[in-house]
Amino acid sequence: MEKLYFIPGSQDLYGEECLQQVAADCAEMVAFLNEKLGDTITIELLPTVETSKNCVEDMKKVMTDDDCVGVITWMHTFSPAKMWIKGLQLLNKPLLHLHTQANEKLPYDEIDMDFMNLNQAAHGDREYGFILAKLNIPHEVVAGFYKHDNVVAKIRQFAQVAKAIGLSKRVRIATFGNNMRDVAVTDGNRLECEIKYGWEVKYWGIGLIAKIAAETTEEEVDAKMAEYNEKYTMATDNIDAVREQARYEVAFEKFIAKNEVTCFTDTFQDLFGLNQLPGIAAQNLMAKGIGFGPEGDYKISALSTVLMKMAEGRDGATGFIEDYTYDLTEGQELELASHMLEVPASFAANKPEIQVHPLGIGGKADPARLVFDGVTGDGIQVTLIDLGDHFRIICADIELVAQPKPMPKLPVARIMYRHKPNFAIGTAAWCYAGGAHHSVVSTALNRSDIEMFARLTGTELITIGDDTTEADLRKFYM
Ligand code: MN
Repeated sequence: MEKLYFIPGSQDLYGEECLQQVAADCAEMVAFLNEKLGDTITIELLPTVETSKNCVEDMKKVMTDDDCVGVITWMHTFSPAKMWIKGLQLLNKPLLHLHTQANEKLPYDEIDMDFMNLNQAAHGDREYGFILAKLNIPHEVVAGFYKHDNVVAKIRQFAQVAKAIGLSKRVRIATFGNNMRDVAVTDGNRLECEIKYGWEVKYWGIGLIAKIAAETTEEEVDAKMAEYNEKYTMATDNIDAVREQARYEVAFEKFIAKNEVTCFTDTFQDLFGLNQLPGIAAQNLMAKGIGFGPEGDYKISALSTVLMKMAEGRDGATGFIEDYTYDLTEGQELELASHMLEVPASFAANKPEIQVHPLGIGGKADPARLVFDGVTGDGIQVTLIDLGDHFRIICADIELVAQPKPMPKLPVARIMYRHKPNFAIGTAAWCYAGGAHHSVVSTALNRSDIEMFARLTGTELITIGDDTTEADLRKFYM
């Protein structure tokens, strides 16, 4: 399991007894947090920082441990912050500044100078906060008594975001084919993606998948069909078309394992050697946490991978979606979001049906796909755009709703949602902000998760929700 290191700060000014108490209190704190958060993260205590030298030693340990996704720091006593400079300069992992105390209440009757010297986070954490600001190090501050539920919840959230950032640095995207011709927002600077987020964008020809698919045995296809039959309802007589998709998925899985990629893209404009656009093959893979972007959209493929990781262990669905069409009934505006085929099975509110239908574009054989109605509830829609000199994340609060009426002639999976604060402001804000038509929708994550991710990765963020006003549109987007 991934871990966080816990590094307390102090100094030798207060004597050995004080330092022993610092270590003992920290051990108790770490034990408590492990008990509360053990299902998500392991926390390990490192030696107290008393000098610049042991700060450097602690941070070296943080940086060389591959299982470590971040660090928690706390100044039990005053810890002169110059001794943190060289260590912090080595740190390139998410940092949580826990602003807390070993004691919840002040012992009014007992308090003396020794107690005050030992328990002075109000003093030491401000000195430390200054050096983080001075060094311009992205970090998260969580303030409150460490046993309080809201503090534990914030540390849990930090652990989940840190794990997602840890995965981000290992994201390898296989792009089969290039960006869809002429499309702007899905393109960008692949090199900057790797520098900023660690995303390796790697090109392969789709013909390679066709070759692996052709070499796939009937037994392997049978096993994949058994998986489909268990998870989904077969609602087609065209079993050969479904077997074709099963063959593709086996091929993608083999490729993914062999090349250690975390996610992929394809494009209907380059399906050389494939008879169908991958439909159920992509949908079923996404439900297993494999990120996907259609039309060569490597950014959304990577972002979906990272956000699925962030949502791990939470209830709700997370995955790629495309904005499609609106119901503009006045005051009850809704959006229908879908894609040609590739809507993640994790969005299914009912048991998906496997259907085979023609696809209007691409000029290939009728592809098998999963068809279902989408989940409901509060959610967010997140996208990432490349503005040349920086990246921007846009995060909109949405409410996923049941579709008001059946759509018997629409043979594709879909979700529907309501924008916040309303259609006019919510969608206008998205357009002003330059938000893409590809995004990641999640009912497991919320705005504060994305705020934390943006803060820790140093990414510009625009949020849209009930607190967005008409005046904001002019202030921020024009
Ligand atoms: Mn698209």
